[in-house]
Amino acid sequence: MDKKLEDIKGVGPQLIKQFRKNSIWSVYDLLLCVPKNYENFSLTELKDANHKDIITIECVISSNLTLNRYGKTPRVTFTCDIDGQFIDVVAFGKGYLVQSFQKGEKVVIKGTYNLYYHQINLSSISKPEKRTEIKPIYGLIDIYDKTVSNIIREIYDTNEDKIYEIIPENIYHPLNYCSRSVAYKKIHLPETEQDILVAKSRMKFEEAFFLQLKWMANRPNQLKRHPKPYDIAKVRAFIDQIPFELTKDQKETVNDVFRDFKKDVASYRLIQGDVGSGKTIVSLIACYAIMTSGEQVAFMAPTELLANQHYQFFTSMIKDFKILRLTSSTKHKEQEKYDLENHHYDMVVGTHALIEDDVKFDKLGLVVIDEQHKFGVEARQQLIDKAKHKDVLYLTATPIPRTLAMIMYGNSHVSTIKEKPKSRKVVETLIVKRDQIDPLMADIKQATNRKEHVFIVVPAIHSELLQDNIDSISELLETFHFKNIFILHGEQSKEQNEVSMNSFIQNPGSILLSTSMIEVGIDLPTATLIAIFSAERFGLAQLHQLRGRVGRSYLKSACYLISNGDDNERLDVLKKTNDGFKLSEFDLKQRGPGDFIGLDQSGFPDFKFLDLQHDYSILLQAQKEVLKLLDLTDFNTNSKYKYLNRFIHEDMKL
Ligand code: ADP
Ligand code: MG
Repeated sequence: MDKKLEDIKGVGPQLIKQFRKNSIWSVYDLLLCVPKNYENFSLTELKDANHKDIITIECVISSNLTLNRYGKTPRVTFTCDIDGQFIDVVAFGKGYLVQSFQKGEKVVIKGTYNLYYHQINLSSISKPEKRTEIKPIYGLIDIYDKTVSNIIREIYDTNEDKIYEIIPENIYHPLNYCSRSVAYKKIHLPETEQDILVAKSRMKFEEAFFLQLKWMANRPNQLKRHPKPYDIAKVRAFIDQIPFELTKDQKETVNDVFRDFKKDVASYRLIQGDVGSGKTIVSLIACYAIMTSGEQVAFMAPTELLANQHYQFFTSMIKDFKILRLTSSTKHKEQEKYDLENHHYDMVVGTHALIEDDVKFDKLGLVVIDEQHKFGVEARQQLIDKAKHKDVLYLTATPIPRTLAMIMYGNSHVSTIKEKPKSRKVVETLIVKRDQIDPLMADIKQATNRKEHVFIVVPAIHSELLQDNIDSISELLETFHFKNIFILHGEQSKEQNEVSMNSFIQNPGSILLSTSMIEVGIDLPTATLIAIFSAERFGLAQLHQLRGRVGRSYLKSACYLISNGDDNERLDVLKKTNDGFKLSEFDLKQRGPGDFIGLDQSGFPDFKFLDLQHDYSILLQAQKEVLKLLDLTDFNTNSKYKYLNRFIHEDMKL
């Protein structure tokens, strides 16, 4: 029988009450209560810091301190070196610092961290003191940390620490992790910094292991099928006629896909690549191969615009197979569905319409879902159900941070296209104030004179609440005497939008004024300027997608972000980086993983130790172990794994 809390020396009725206030009912609860921090470790690791966190770091002043003024306030700026990483520090109203500190000095600084500017807004600065003892900080309500530590020490001294192992020893031991009970002891009673690191890394591994155990055990069953009998000579000939050379990442992704095809189980693969990285052609090569196997392909896009664009591109590239376009506005659907079912078509390109039950195939061999994050969770599930036991390619340009992608799809099912085609110019991003748009208008004029295409994006159609909408901006454009303006938004009919889009594409030097509808996928090499009004109203990922509409050729391109807001940090980040993966990391940090991928919290519990953004290698290691484990023939029956099986099936908390 485990000892009760009240049986521990030093725990009286008063303390019991206080423990209860903190939801601590047993010795075990208390042991699981992890210190929030350690006193001589109250120093923050910069990589753990979130935007606007108050942080304390030890560093060396690596520049001279410069005094200038911000309005009337004195402002001191300098740079600090934290183990080779540099960060800017700014201090307001502390002009005297210039006299008290100098370059080369070791200091402890405290202040608010600005993730976007990579800067600390200083609140205090001091010379580092010597500290010896490591004091855990529990931060419990109404209980001193010292008291908690004393009780815990007593628990350990009397061997009442009952922390059971939950990972089989043959898994954690060869990886040099300590046992669970050793980890907890080191967490509560560390003697050295190293103790804390050792303990934390074991606990990170544990969290990563259980996260992925659940996730991987529930992954879709991969159906046995014959390897795809594609015609390699034909595929080669197809690749040869592509008018450009594939990038290295594109080639590798093609190889990944073909390796999947050669397996004897149906495969699924996430292809993630930033906007304009050329995912379409990669997936088209895969589609072509499947058609040479005598099977059919379904290619699905989130909007009609995109489906139409794909259809045009595919029919221009593929002459030896028949391709059907099927969207909700397609006429004579019955006949075409009949023809599809009877394999008169080899491929169908369309929107959600493809999910409908009456869309049937003779031999569906591959499903491609473009911009997969654009489909709602439900639609995605329907699609996946439909594609169950089929080979599926998911394409996405809103990169999931790589840790999440790896967890959700499994490391071996993710292909990443990082490198962009060489011809690409970096899009220049400019932030302008709403009342200073004359230079922008001049730029638009020049671009249209050069017969390039211009996108103008607004957040609303005609809202009285929003200054920038289709109505107001089209009036504004008129005052600048622009010609050839086409309009696209969700209140117009599909036909109307299609006419607008086609007219825009066919009229070099024209302007498309639209809501964020154009966001995904549209590919127009002569588009060189995009202006986004009320840019602060859009999400980071969305803005990045919109920016991706330009810079799709060797032509120099620009993205104007027009904003009135003061909170321009997000826009600044966008200005600084063109890398969608980096931007998604920012989003992950700001919004957390659940929100990020629209999953319920149970999939991603709050971790005490694991950091989804930075612990990539631990997650990868844990995934490998989990997969090995799940592959064991006796995993479900061996009593050694009973606990793990219960965890998988019984919604159990650790
Ligand atoms: P995304 O990954 O955003 O879907 P697309 O597949 O639409 O990007 O490709 C963007 C443009 O780049 C298209 O016009 C495509 O034909 C072109 N493209 C793709 N790969 C290459 C390449 N290797 N070299 C040059 N142009 C390429
Ligand atoms: Mg695309």
